[in-house]
Amino acid sequence: MSILVVGSVAYDDLETPFGKRERVLGGAATHFSASASFYSPVQLVGVVGNDFNEKEISFLKPRGVDLSGLQIQTNGKTFHWKGRYGFDLNEAQTLETHLNVFADFNPVLPENFKKSSCVFLANIDPELQLRVLDQIERPRLVAMDTMNYWITGKPDALKKILKKVEILLINEAETRQLTQERNLVKAAKKIQGLGPKVVAIKRGEYGALLFADSFVFSAPGFPLEDLKDPTGAGDSFAGGFVGYLAKHGAQMDAKHLKRAVICGSVMASFQVEDFGLDRMRNLSKKEINERFEAFKTLSHFEENLIV
Ligand code: AMP
Repeated sequence: MSILVVGSVAYDDLETPFGKRERVLGGAATHFSASASFYSPVQLVGVVGNDFNEKEISFLKPRGVDLSGLQIQTNGKTFHWKGRYGFDLNEAQTLETHLNVFADFNPVLPENFKKSSCVFLANIDPELQLRVLDQIERPRLVAMDTMNYWITGKPDALKKILKKVEILLINEAETRQLTQERNLVKAAKKIQGLGPKVVAIKRGEYGALLFADSFVFSAPGFPLEDLKDPTGAGDSFAGGFVGYLAKHGAQMDAKHLKRAVICGSVMASFQVEDFGLDRMRNLSKKEINERFEAFKTLSHFEENLIV
């Protein structure tokens, strides 16, 4: 099953304790697609400006990413984000956000995108997320992400779109901000009351927590020795998570949801090993399978009771 994704395609300026990069290809939809394409075909919807170099994104085509929904706006510049991380790599500090061509983007889906059964609304203006969803005939599974910028900037549109999705993937700080609740168990319940019955909370190096109607599942963060840039970790997590579900017919039972969390964690663990999309460009399926196995052994233990 293919996945339709709408979200930012960007040029990022990045600064981490391990180095600096300027104008590297990024954006939530780009990172998502690079990750999800290891599992399922992807249809990308987004917009770029007259400064965009198409060659940079073309490596996604042979991987099954359909870029025909990527509009090129000749009278504006590509979305630009500048972020910095301190030694606490879990939280990005946004230094600049230039919406540029996203400010007046009108997403019009190509005809063959309108029948998508699986949709990921990556981090972008919730009004655009709504406009995209309105054009899709009968999706089976809709998942979404958001961030502080939209939680404070567009709370009403965000509430509207939350009512229409099955799954919210969101990071820990933004979970607290959205719900005004510090305790993550209570916060997840509040989010379930807003619409999405499944809530995946991304906790950076501490892993991820999944709240569904009848169970909670926790995945560890993979203990990495070399970590360079956390940008895109959330979107590659979403790529592995939604990619796995789409590959398996969008089944949402406990078995599939738990495996999806591990696939998300596997993809995020690779993403942070290098800047921008560098790790995703040279990643192989063999490496993905090996890390999936490593995750299994990471928290497996014998079942003998100790008291
Ligand atoms: P994450 O996976 O959460 O690290 O997301 C990283 C990507 O989000 C970067 O490549 C940015 O280009 C993109 N981004 C940052 N701010 C925004 C925003 N306000 N709207 C959409 N995308 C953004």
